[in-house]
Amino acid sequence: MGRPLTERERDVLAFMIDTALPSGGDRPVPAAARARWRQSIPTTTAGRRCECGACPSIDLVDERARTSKGGRSVVLRADHPKASLLLFIDDDRLSYLELAPHGDEAIDHFPPVVELSI
Ligand SMILES: [Zn+2]
Repeated sequence: MGRPLTERERDVLAFMIDTALPSGGDRPVPAAARARWRQSIPTTTAGRRCECGACPSIDLVDERARTSKGGRSVVLRADHPKASLLLFIDDDRLSYLELAPHGDEAIDHFPPVVELSI
């Protein structure tokens, strides 16, 4: 198991699952899939953090202490004025929550959900 998600991480994860859209014109995500992913939030923990030092991106680890790799990827995207947010779902499991800063300025924490848009 990783560490528990922070409240902010959990909020951003829920926002991404509920409202973020597939990137690059991929197929729409069925509501049933979003519901399934949402149900997995309570058993999701934070694994390794990105080592770049400029972002708060984290591996998402489930109760089997495994980060999913491979399988068909769904990537959901949302935007912040200073960054892009991406949620990777691999093989139907929450896999990676990424914040990619637009500029050189480091962003240490995920932003409040109210600052996100789709
Ligand atoms: Zn990083």
